Amino acid sequence: MSSIYPEDPRERTRWILEKRPNWDERRQRLSQNPPVNWLLEEEPDAAHTPIAALTIFLTNRECPWRCLMCDLWQYTTLESLPMGSVPVQIDRVLNQALPWPSSGVSRHLKLYNAGSFFDRRAIPPADHSTIAERCRAFERVIVECHPSLIGDEVWRFRDRLGGGTALEVAMGLETANPEVLAKLNKGLDLEGFERAAERLRRHGVDLRVFVLVKPPFVSDHDAVTWAVRSVDWSFELGATVVTVIPTRLGNGALDALMAAGEFSPPNIDLLEAAFAECLAVARGRGRVLADVWNLELFCSGQSDDSTRRKARLHRVNLSQKWQ
Ligand code: SF4
Repeated sequence: MSSIYPEDPRERTRWILEKRPNWDERRQRLSQNPPVNWLLEEEPDAAHTPIAALTIFLTNRECPWRCLMCDLWQYTTLESLPMGSVPVQIDRVLNQALPWPSSGVSRHLKLYNAGSFFDRRAIPPADHSTIAERCRAFERVIVECHPSLIGDEVWRFRDRLGGGTALEVAMGLETANPEVLAKLNKGLDLEGFERAAERLRRHGVDLRVFVLVKPPFVSDHDAVTWAVRSVDWSFELGATVVTVIPTRLGNGALDALMAAGEFSPPNIDLLEAAFAECLAVARGRGRVLADVWNLELFCSGQSDDSTRRKARLHRVNLSQKWQ
């Protein structure tokens, strides 16, 4: 059966862009007044002790890749922001009276920029020193980055953090299924991911991996198997944390595939089944976390059902035991 999704890789970016809702006006407004969004949550550390993790969602220019499943571009700007914009966004969050848990708990900072922290058109390298200075109040800083951009800027940033703050880089593997990964239009293959993971390991930078549960072109039947294989391979490559993320509709491209009967998002039962098996495959090599962002989108039942299941996933995230 032929697909509406182009077979020719050179056609895919155009196809994905055509399907996007037009949110340019909203994105222009983001440039003029970058919002200050943050989230304070608990996560288990390597000893499975709950720690406080602050995520700051930075606004900056869109990532240069055009992945089939990505909806992060809606939070990005069309043009680069001036130097100094990102440190100001960080300061605006840190200067708020954040409701930190009791003193003495370990603090992690996630700087998530809906793209790659080391993309110089998103965050100018000239801002790295100022950003690193702000990060020194935390035990660990976690940034996200496309594997192709793992290089000297990463080691320089690690050095700027000083010895008291560990650097962890989160990379999206998405799936260890090579054919599916190629169709995601991420400009990445398994060898490229492995090389980037190896470079991080050699330079003493920790690795966190994002894995999709039921990416496009993976059936319900195969979804758990591929999530487990992807998590297993991530730990083989030295990951300390793997986050499993249910694939979301809403970016235009996946909605078009769904309308053509070529994609459906996972439901909560599938996510839970995948999470339980991924925890089992971790075998003490690291932590597996389920992403509970917008979990209600994956629950067809009553809202109290999604609240209950979200609370349960959160408990499992912390305990690392399926219960
Ligand atoms: S590399 Fe990441 S941020 Fe960029 S398009 Fe792909 S999923 Fe989105």
